[in-house]
Amino acid sequence: MTSRTEGIVLRSRTLGEADLIIEYLTKDFGTRSAFAKSPRKIKSRFGGSLEPFTYARIALTGREDANLPKLTQSDIIRSFHPLRENIPVFLKACQFAELALKLLPSDGRNNPDAFALLLWGLDGLEKDPASALVPLVFKMRLMELAGYAPALNGCARCGGQAQVFYPRDGALLCGGCKKGKKEGPALGLSAALIAMHKSLSAFPLEKLSRIKPSGALLTELERFVELHFTEGVNVHIRSAKF
Ligand SMILES: [Zn+2]
Repeated sequence: MTSRTEGIVLRSRTLGEADLIIEYLTKDFGTRSAFAKSPRKIKSRFGGSLEPFTYARIALTGREDANLPKLTQSDIIRSFHPLRENIPVFLKACQFAELALKLLPSDGRNNPDAFALLLWGLDGLEKDPASALVPLVFKMRLMELAGYAPALNGCARCGGQAQVFYPRDGALLCGGCKKGKKEGPALGLSAALIAMHKSLSAFPLEKLSRIKPSGALLTELERFVELHFTEGVNVHIRSAKF
């Protein structure tokens, strides 16, 4: 059977001499790998549509349970060509793709919010390659979609006042509730940071450019999101494998 959807190329690797395996984030089936037979030999058929970050209308053919269907059609909707023209921008886009592959389950379930987020992120990067906000919001929202939203509404245990974040708990904890627990990294968060984090999480993506955090707040947010990712999310992903 053949399924048709829209997909964004996250990554591709060669298989044998001329074949390719392409990993997509699709509009209807979450992340999905497909096999392209000798794309270099039949260049006219796929054109440049297998390049990283290309947004294309695709058709996948194979048994429904096949984990590697064959790509039988790929028509470019948007090439995102400028993202491949400049190394620093290319690396940022690669990070988006890597995070999507790492955080999103490949269980075939529809994940329209993740698809919309990636499109938004690539579009934002193409329009403003120097934007600090786009990579930050992409990472924040992807973590949330993958079930790793930080709990920032007071102490996660007692509900009292708390402003110290413990990434391994993924939450704010007050001094009383933290007592006696194993030591781990922690970061004090300002009230302004917590409020800005909430706005950036909740605001519709298409209107997000209206929010303009100060440089200092942006730096503080980046540090927080990075710590939450490396010490919280990454540790949990690794441990979930065992
Ligand atoms: Zn508490």
